[in-house]
Amino acid sequence: MISEDIVPLFQELGFADIASMTSQDFCQGTAALLGLDASLLDSFEIDLSLKNIFPPELAARCQAVPLTRKRDHLCVALVDPFDAKALALLRFMFEESIEQIVAPPERVKELLDCYCSSENSSFTPVADHLEQLLEHAVTTQASDLHLEPSEHGWTVRYRIDGLLQEHCSFSKSRGKAIVSRMKLMAHLDIAEQRRAQDGRLEYRPRNNLNSHLAAFRLATLPTQFGESLVLRLLDRRATCLDLEQLSFTPTVRTALLELLQEPYGLFIVTGPTGSGKTTTLYSCLQHLHHETIKIVTVEDPVEYELEGVLQIPINEAIGLSFARTLRSLLRHDPDIIMVGETRDAATARMALQASLTGHRVLTTLHTGDAAGAIARILEMGGEATTLATVLRGVLAQRLLRTICPACRMAYQPGEKLLASLGLSDTPNDFHLYRGEGCGACEQTGYTGRQAIFELFLVNDSLQTLIHQGASHLLLREKAIEQGMVPLRREAVRLLQEGITTVEEVLQWT
Ligand SMILES: [Zn+2]
Repeated sequence: MISEDIVPLFQELGFADIASMTSQDFCQGTAALLGLDASLLDSFEIDLSLKNIFPPELAARCQAVPLTRKRDHLCVALVDPFDAKALALLRFMFEESIEQIVAPPERVKELLDCYCSSENSSFTPVADHLEQLLEHAVTTQASDLHLEPSEHGWTVRYRIDGLLQEHCSFSKSRGKAIVSRMKLMAHLDIAEQRRAQDGRLEYRPRNNLNSHLAAFRLATLPTQFGESLVLRLLDRRATCLDLEQLSFTPTVRTALLELLQEPYGLFIVTGPTGSGKTTTLYSCLQHLHHETIKIVTVEDPVEYELEGVLQIPINEAIGLSFARTLRSLLRHDPDIIMVGETRDAATARMALQASLTGHRVLTTLHTGDAAGAIARILEMGGEATTLATVLRGVLAQRLLRTICPACRMAYQPGEKLLASLGLSDTPNDFHLYRGEGCGACEQTGYTGRQAIFELFLVNDSLQTLIHQGASHLLLREKAIEQGMVPLRREAVRLLQEGITTVEEVLQWT
């Protein structure tokens, strides 16, 4: 086990009887001699993801096994810790410095065999596997990628057009390797597995360097079977979204463009989570962006980067709430302020105050319809007088899934259904459409989504009603009387045009 040359050194360390030394003694003695750390590797599991950077051939040749990778260090253990040739080769191969750990030789040998033989037959390098997962998210235009550990392995699901779809699953070791690599790419602490972490990960397909860079927000959550990951695709293409490209009706578009030109006041976009509110607000900001205007946003988190716009992420953990950030940024002389979400009384009051003092304020709320936003602001402690003065308009929106063109089928709806949709006076051969499900739409019958909008424009008479504290219903009724097309009517229009289905109309409006 020990070469003649170093026997005296061991004897100096106090190991008089070399022959009866245990492997633990050898390990600790060697570590002391070389000034290295020792590990018995008792509960150690090898990390197969390291095969991407440390091929099994190299491991076999150097009789060395890579243990972990910490930032720019690669930890290795050698079967013969004194093998200077092998060490020199490893140091030559890796730009990152090699950190040697001394471990019992028979244990290193065991790990080495396992490292060189495991999963060899059907081995896709982890890097390729991970790339496929990210690429799939981009090509299917998924909004999120979920990696979920269970007792026996990992499941990958994508949220596409608002619904989760299972994509594939893989073994526990592969799952762990992918999770580590993703955390590495997002600059998270890999060793930390018991605390939730957030980061940002960027990815450009290796085989297509001209395609755009995809960015993901990565969030980890410890579960009893390991870390669960969710990657939200931050779609930078949204930054080139033009108001012209959103599916407004000509009337709504014209009114909205006029409203955005008002020198001050409050504009609210409302709808449930995932209804595209942020995209609409970003398109508005993009439209308003001009070198003579200062735009500042407060967001949780910053989802897209907008050129020429000062974007501030809020951070509740250190006390940077929406309200507090808003207060500070008002001293930065902005013209236009976008508040990602108004979700508490303090923020609502600040937003009203800012609109009253000559700023254009854009924000989002969670309410069912446009008129509901007024009730919500009042509930949060906003004053009716102030709101009536500053509110310019509220845009409510929904995203409806659109029928897959490849498997679209016409059918004749029953009279009862038509009546419930307010479509009783239809010709005899009236048809509606749905998707049968095919390969192109992964059997869902849908591809993509289209937004519908309801614009509540504050004119003189509505302003008076808001001032008087009119009810939600009365405001809605009056707005419709004065030309507001409600969401339901817009949805039914898409239905009649064969763009969406009855199910979508009923679910979202
Ligand atoms: Zn289809």
